[in-house]
Amino acid sequence: MSLQQINSEAERLRNEMTHALSELIRIPAIGPENGGEGESEKAKKLRQILGTIGFDKIESYDAEDKRVPSKKRPNIVAYYYGENKAERLWIISHLDIVPPGEETLWTVTKPYEPKVKDDRIYGRGSEDNGQSMVASMFAVKILKNLGIKPKRTVALAFVSDEEHGSEYGIQHLIAQKLIRKDDLIVVPDGGSEDGSFIEISEKSALWLKIRTIGAQTHASRPHKGLNAHRIGMEYALSLDKMLHEKYRLKDEYFDPPESTFEPTMKEKNVDAINIVPGEDVSYVDCRILPNYDLGEVLKDIRELAGNYEKRTGAKINVEIVQKSVAPKPTDAEARIVTALEEVIENVRKVKPKVGGIGGGTCAAFFRKINIPAVVWCTIDETAHQPNEYSKIKNLADDAEVYVHLAMV
Ligand SMILES: [Zn+2]
Repeated sequence: MSLQQINSEAERLRNEMTHALSELIRIPAIGPENGGEGESEKAKKLRQILGTIGFDKIESYDAEDKRVPSKKRPNIVAYYYGENKAERLWIISHLDIVPPGEETLWTVTKPYEPKVKDDRIYGRGSEDNGQSMVASMFAVKILKNLGIKPKRTVALAFVSDEEHGSEYGIQHLIAQKLIRKDDLIVVPDGGSEDGSFIEISEKSALWLKIRTIGAQTHASRPHKGLNAHRIGMEYALSLDKMLHEKYRLKDEYFDPPESTFEPTMKEKNVDAINIVPGEDVSYVDCRILPNYDLGEVLKDIRELAGNYEKRTGAKINVEIVQKSVAPKPTDAEARIVTALEEVIENVRKVKPKVGGIGGGTCAAFFRKINIPAVVWCTIDETAHQPNEYSKIKNLADDAEVYVHLAMV
């Protein structure tokens, strides 16, 4: 089968891929931590689409979760058998999305009303991770339409809970022992605009909830209380400064090369302008180079909180919402890395670049158990932003890469 034939078939399926992605965008799949009902509705639609493609076997591995109406978080695996069933290519994408955020910032279309414009599909979950869900299943459709039995079995996994720790998603799937050490694993949940970037390592992640407790009072008599909002802001700013100054090492292997510390979410406090808040809650997202010990970072954060407590009389609780220590990187000589490099060079005509990112993908869980995994896809990096989009060209081009990856 020539490069040209595969390319033509991918191009021919563009409209179908656009339609499939649009259907998926219409159904939100937000985890309970973010106030959502989980992924069950989206999984139903996905199974419907998978059913039209003709896989050899489709399985479900639901994880029980009492917090969502369906009481389960779906994980779906679809197999398309190759000549050699013992050899498998896994492509792992996730069903869940993050909330749309401030709706007025969605100027092209509403988050769940997909819109095609300038060869892009706009909508929440279009790039993260709908594009890869669709590209991977259409890779199988291309193989089928062209009558190709690939060298190795293609196994597609669609998992839940990626945006909040993966306990009910990829961790649950790994526990089923379906995935073996010598399988090839691609997690298409990060990448670059030209598709040249292959991620093999990541930073450690630390999410913190900072709760400052003072005493509420009337704003005309502030001396009667203790303004938790002011102290919370002061602490947050000095924390920000301390972290950036102390942990400032750069590693050019990563993009961005330095550790990042970002104050992000802020909880609502009082209901009126004339009330001095007695409590202040904010959050920080830290992505830390693997050179640093998270225990030490945490110690510094708490020590600074202690100083502010002493100085102000407020109480500052630093709570860990999530903590993941960067696993050992995937070996740059691992078969999945070299195979993907070969395909990218041949099909995309760009020079592949291997490196690290801020991380937090399903790949980390494979690296933790010493199974090589790469993160790769072709994206403009609009994930988690308003007006998130996926390029239709990328849908077709990534599908093509997966087809070749099943055959090399
Ligand atoms: Zn993602």
